Amino acid sequence: MPGIPEIEGYRKRLDQHTVGQRIRSLDMQRQSGLNVDLERLHDLALGRQILFVERRGTDLIFHLDNGQRLVVRLGQEDELHIDRLEAGAEDEELKTAANASKPAFSLRLDSVAVTVVKSRTLQLLLLTAKELDQQQREQGPDPLSRHLTAERFRQRFAKRRSTLKAALMNPALLAGIDSRYADDIAFAAGLRPSVRVDQLQEEELDRLFLSMIHVLQEAIERQDGRGAAADGSTASLSWGIAGKTGEPCPRCGTPIEEMLIQRKPAYFCPQCQPLPPADES
Ligand SMILES: [Zn+2]
Repeated sequence: MPGIPEIEGYRKRLDQHTVGQRIRSLDMQRQSGLNVDLERLHDLALGRQILFVERRGTDLIFHLDNGQRLVVRLGQEDELHIDRLEAGAEDEELKTAANASKPAFSLRLDSVAVTVVKSRTLQLLLLTAKELDQQQREQGPDPLSRHLTAERFRQRFAKRRSTLKAALMNPALLAGIDSRYADDIAFAAGLRPSVRVDQLQEEELDRLFLSMIHVLQEAIERQDGRGAAADGSTASLSWGIAGKTGEPCPRCGTPIEEMLIQRKPAYFCPQCQPLPPADES
């Protein structure tokens, strides 16, 4: 499942391999995943040059030279493949493509092909700068955005009555944090995922903010170390505590426990993430 670190890995590779290239073909198998019809998409995107690739939350955003933005929103199980097209290999590939089943998404550039083979939930949006701004204003900032300071983070989180985990995963507060990373961030901050955000002290919110940046940055670095982000969807599973009920806590050895928050499992170390004193009675 691609989270922010995996998507950031894709973004770096796309930025390296697609910038300056022109869109030669663009196709989506499931047209219900498009916000415009395919004809309009082709009119506005074919032949356009990619200026740069941005990530916001788990959205990948191609900035085109006509001011349009092409937003790729991967589904939970999706993997993005970025392949260099060998000179002369195109005909061969087109032939096999005609025989094989059509990929869920394919973007062919001058010398690179970007493909999602299978997907049920992939979305592709063509937006103007204004439309993208509008969408972004309705959502929380990217957790690694330079504009998100500790103070702004505190302001966004203060007085929230939801649990810590629900707040981290609330897209209106922060873009793109999934369940796995929410558990690991709460663990790194030494805070129980079920604690109510409005009961946290200022110092705890600051710790949460720093832990969030640390966990995501570290996962991005691990991703880079692997060198192959395309199959990096499990990169973070060997680390952290998410999904590891009964296994020893990497910090203190106490078995990891599991609880339900909003009917979904949350993982924590009862020793390293104690309940706040007020809740113990
Ligand atoms: Zn522990």
